[in-house]
Amino acid sequence: MRIPFSPPFIDQDVISEVIDTLESGWITTGPKVKALEGEVCRLTGVSQTLCVNSWTSGAILVLKWFGIQEGDEVIIPAYTYSATALAVLHCGAVPVMVDVNEDFTVNIDAIRAAVTEKTKIIMPVDIAGLPCDYDAVNMLVNEPGIKLKFRPTSANQRKLGRMLVLSDAAHSIGASYRGKPAGILTDITIFSFHAVKNITTGEGGAICINLPVPFDCAEEYKIMRLWTLNGQTKDAFTKSQGGGNSWKYDIAFQGLKINMPDICAAIGLAQIKKYKEVIMPERKRVAQRYHEFFSKKSWAQLPIMADEDRNSCYHLYALRMNDISEEERDEMMVSIAEDEVSVNVHFIPMPMLTLFKDLGYRIEDYPVSYDNYSREISLPIYPQLTDEQIDYICSSVEKAYEKIAQKVV
Ligand SMILES: *Cc1c(COP(=O)(O)O)cnc(C)c1O
Repeated sequence: MRIPFSPPFIDQDVISEVIDTLESGWITTGPKVKALEGEVCRLTGVSQTLCVNSWTSGAILVLKWFGIQEGDEVIIPAYTYSATALAVLHCGAVPVMVDVNEDFTVNIDAIRAAVTEKTKIIMPVDIAGLPCDYDAVNMLVNEPGIKLKFRPTSANQRKLGRMLVLSDAAHSIGASYRGKPAGILTDITIFSFHAVKNITTGEGGAICINLPVPFDCAEEYKIMRLWTLNGQTKDAFTKSQGGGNSWKYDIAFQGLKINMPDICAAIGLAQIKKYKEVIMPERKRVAQRYHEFFSKKSWAQLPIMADEDRNSCYHLYALRMNDISEEERDEMMVSIAEDEVSVNVHFIPMPMLTLFKDLGYRIEDYPVSYDNYSREISLPIYPQLTDEQIDYICSSVEKAYEKIAQKVV
């Protein structure tokens, strides 16, 4: 039975919404993007959402908006997809990596220990869709001792008066922490709408602006929107509405070109409308069926889907095996692939990748990240999976484990 890892969710509503865009005569940034931004606001409770063409470009925008420049430091976990660090490098700043907890979320004590007078931003990552301890992070940046270390070098840094908390929520749309949805847990949150994410626009991302006073989030939305359109004061849609001098525009500053087209927004718009009622519950069904099976196996460590404080949005099912080595995990992956089941590892800690090794990061400094990585296999999780397929995946994983367990004995 051939089982893909993460095919996109494309039903008739998605197809109809895209066709509607094609037939409307307007395919780049316009009404569909506006509608998607509105739906993200509705889902998360945030007042302002700006769509962009990827999480990565959105992060670069926010870093530039905050005035990040060469020599500045941004604290991130070592255990994440590389885009978290690459966005920082693109701005000439230094990604300061810290270790994570056993539940994959960033370690708060490690963040505190990493703060210096160059630290400008703290960027936690909601791995697999499980939110970090945001109360702790938000409290940390407001601690008098930590605030004293903050040396603002831009107007927005002076206005905030402390380090910015920017959430890498690429995985966590629909998740919640202490009753509050991802999107309003920090100053700024960025979701990814990449093809494998819970909601997709093919490629895309959304920036949720939740800045405290004296910031006016509606004003910051307008400024960040200019950032996505080459700093151009009038977008193509507004110009197209025609009449008199509507063709005139100005270039206010040197921005980026990272706006989301309507043709992409249409896919996400159809999905987000049924996210809470259909897509998330279906992902939960898959996770629960895995839980039922693997909770009976003494060798399996189940991922946290919910606890007192947090609800995951079931982005990944990050299964770990107790007491196995990285090599044994790799052998299991080969065995599972032989059954035509596509599995993955989330993630190779960045200090193990060439770029970061060359920059001097060493995996020995991140023992929990390495341990999480070495014992992890991500199983397929998406609405289209049938119970029969899930059971097939479970037995394939069990068979793979038994093979390596026999070798040990
Ligand atoms: C997917 C992902 C990103 C990057 O998202 P893009 O939209 O592809 O730029 C960033 N961080 C994490 C944790 C991701 O998984």
